[in-house]
Amino acid sequence: MNFIETRGNDGKRPAEVTFSEAILGPMSSFGGIYSPKFLPTLGLSFLEKHLDSNYQMMALDVLEEFGIDIEQNVIDEAVSLYNHFDDANNPAPLVKVKDDLYISELYHGPTRAFKDMALQPFGVVLSSLAKQRDENYLILAATSGDTGPAALETFKNRQNVQVVCLYPDGGTSDVQRLQMVTEDADNLKVIGIHGDFDDAQSALKLLLASETFNEKLKEKNIHLSAANSVNFGRIIFQLIYHIHSYLELVRQKAINLGDFIYLDVPSGNFGNALGGYYAMKMGLPVEKILIASNNNNVLTQWISTGKYDLRDSSVIPTTSPAMDILKSSNVERILFDMFGSARTKELMLQLDEEKYYVLTANELEQLQEVFSADFCTDEEGKKYIQDTYSEGYLMDPHTATCFKTYETCKDKDLITVAYSTAEWTKFSPTIANALTGETDISDQDALKAIAAKANIEIPAQINALFELDIVQDVVIDKEEIEKEILAFL
Ligand SMILES: *Cc1c(COP(=O)(O)O)cnc(C)c1O
Repeated sequence: MNFIETRGNDGKRPAEVTFSEAILGPMSSFGGIYSPKFLPTLGLSFLEKHLDSNYQMMALDVLEEFGIDIEQNVIDEAVSLYNHFDDANNPAPLVKVKDDLYISELYHGPTRAFKDMALQPFGVVLSSLAKQRDENYLILAATSGDTGPAALETFKNRQNVQVVCLYPDGGTSDVQRLQMVTEDADNLKVIGIHGDFDDAQSALKLLLASETFNEKLKEKNIHLSAANSVNFGRIIFQLIYHIHSYLELVRQKAINLGDFIYLDVPSGNFGNALGGYYAMKMGLPVEKILIASNNNNVLTQWISTGKYDLRDSSVIPTTSPAMDILKSSNVERILFDMFGSARTKELMLQLDEEKYYVLTANELEQLQEVFSADFCTDEEGKKYIQDTYSEGYLMDPHTATCFKTYETCKDKDLITVAYSTAEWTKFSPTIANALTGETDISDQDALKAIAAKANIEIPAQINALFELDIVQDVVIDKEEIEKEILAFL
């Protein structure tokens, strides 16, 4: 299986690359990214075959269908990292919350958020490729809070890879920040920047494209890659759990094999939703994918009107900060898949230069055949957390946004799988506020308040964070990033 460029070819780069090349260098011509040339078809027979498989067996078979150029022992090792999740056989449990609403919990990995689902196996694949080629790679990750900890965790002490993680200072929860700034390994560097997540992400994109920076890296014999969800090496592991959720519904007798369902996805950079889209295209019976946003509702506007407009918008801080994103990187892969590379290039360059684009009526219709969207305010989210807790289910504020789309976006009476992307421990002040009314409390006090109220234990790895030394204490302006990184290398 080869990969092609979302914005077409500039005549300098190869027009097609292998999976490993797309992973090692995820940026393509004209500032585009890589997408699969075609997708394997799985169909109902594949689902039937895996009704009794555990997660890892099914995942290996999906990966085999893709025919990627990664050695089998590396793939095996990557998938075996799900052994470090709470339940090795079922790393993403599906919980019934209402008669027609099930929640797929994607946060049972080492950093307690869904980024582990993809980054854990991805770390093995990338580091093995680098080692085989005897090359050194630098991973630059911009994080709104969860990618950072998950990237640091997966690459910690792995060979031939160094990680630099940029986070918006003040834009993450205490637990997220502690998960990063307490990481102590020679190959890891964590940098706080003055600005928001979009600033961090733009700075990273500039660096990835900068010739002078690349020149200096070359002198040091270091290649650049990325661990953000522009990297297809993450996306491939994200389409698998959508298939898993479907199989779980059949196993729990909520649906019959072949029944259509809704996927309901709390969205930011659109990696999770893109995984659902690919799974659907590969034959998973999905009626529609519901895209949940918070007050940063660019995606809702895009899917409802066809207009992607950043002209008057700046990031609004919300209680679901991992979704405080305006420029959602994986939308580009949807454009490419639906409308082709020439149109994608036109639209994305217009977005870069004029900060907006508008789809045609036909294009919008095509988009709405697959997606439906709405956004959830912080107040609405708080109410969903309260109501759902009183019905016996504790959830985080990102997961809560899905309840809005669940209520407003379905037009058929079908089962919905909503995705829970973070454990309650990662955004505890918001949850404590919803459950006990307390305001302005620290993560640590909030964790205690929730644990007492809900009669549950704070996981040991979260408690331990507050005792560790802070070893990564750099907070700087965007302009200083390049210098800081070169000094680390
Ligand atoms: C990353 C993240 C999201 C958004 O996922 P995308 O794939 O970027 O759309 C939602 N919730 C949480 C908790 C996250 O960490």
